[in-house]
This record gives sequence, C-alpha cells and structure tokens, in this order.
Amino acid sequence: MRLILMGPPGAGKGTQAKFVADHFGIPAISTGDIFRANVSEGTPLGIEAKRFMDKGEYVPDEVTNQMVRNRIGEPDAAPGFLLDGYPRTLAQVEELDGMIASSGHRLDAVVVLRVDQDEVVQRLTQRAQVEGRADDTEDVIRRRQAVYAEETEPLIQVYRDRGIVHEIDGMGEVEDVTKRIFAALDVVPQS
Ligand code: AMP
Repeated sequence: MRLILMGPPGAGKGTQAKFVADHFGIPAISTGDIFRANVSEGTPLGIEAKRFMDKGEYVPDEVTNQMVRNRIGEPDAAPGFLLDGYPRTLAQVEELDGMIASSGHRLDAVVVLRVDQDEVVQRLTQRAQVEGRADDTEDVIRRRQAVYAEETEPLIQVYRDRGIVHEIDGMGEVEDVTKRIFAALDVVPQS
C-alpha cells in the first residue's frame, strides 16, 4: 500500500497518518519530522533545512527528494508507506513517480484532509505552545499556509486527474476523521 496524506499544515495529518499507517502495517514517513530530527541533532542536513524551515519556506527539492529516496529505500518501507508532507511541489511529484515506478509499484491513493483555515491557524498556535515550538510564530504559521496554497494545493489536481484522490472532511473529532478516511479507503472496521 502506497499512500499520500495531504492537507494544509495543522490539518491533523500527523495524527491520522499514524492510525492509517498502523492499520496497513507500513511506516508513516513525515518529511517535516525527519527534518526536525536532523535539526535537533545538528546534522549537515538539519543545518541546511533549518534556514528554510525558520521562515516557513520549503527546503529545496534536491535535498528533500534525496532524503525521501533514502527513507523509502529502507527495509521497513518495502511493503509500502504513507507519506505525510511529501510531495509538496510538482518537481517532488515527478520525482516520487520515478521512485515508485522504478520499484515496480504504483501509488494507491491520495487522501486530502479539508479543514477550515481559521481553525487550522488556531490549532497550530496551540500546538506551538504545547510542544514548545518557540519559532512557530503566527507570521511563520501564516506564511506556511500561503506557501501550501500556492505550491501544494495545485498538486491535488494532478492526482485527481489520475482518479486516486479521496477528499475527506478533516473537521471534528480525531476518531471521526479516522473513520471517514477508512471508509474512503474501503477499510472494513474491526469489532
Ligand atoms: P511539516 O511538519 O510537514 O509542516 O514540515 C515542516 C517544515 O519542513 C516545512 O515548513 C518545510 O520547511 C519543511 N518541509 C517538510 N516537508 C517538505 C517538503 N516535502 N518539501 C520541502 N520542505 C519540506
């Protein structure tokens, strides 16, 4: 199973990614989490990425693509993976197509979480406080939303044209959103 979870920053992708990935027994791969881990460890990748992340801008495609290529080449991703936060640009879509095709597989589905913009900004501001992400100022949060709208939102159409997009209402209780995602992916509830 090869899946992409899309939606603006703060749509709850990380939370849902874990449930969905656990269900299918595949890793949830978050490029944002990998970048943050590298930033905390002070690796060369982290130092490079931080310059962009601090401004709410995207890390350059070459850096991001190589990182994803390495990650999905790891053994735990052999049965599949769920990508959270990647691809975010057309160049990344094309690169990912190549990676998946060269492994002889196909992309199964793209789940898009739809949320209310104001609610998202509120969620992110709260998360920044709870998780102590001091650099998540409201300006940076708004910049990230704008970058998503400009660069990433248009990619949904590319996948829509392939007939693999599932648009899900991302508002409300976490478990209700999970149920909607599973229903869209034809997952039969166990109980
Ligand atoms: P996220 O946690 O997914 O919102 O990612 C946090 C930050 O990491 C983003 O604002 C970007 O600076 C960077 N980042 C994460 N994923 C990507 C990507 N696919 N392409 C470029 N930059 C990314």
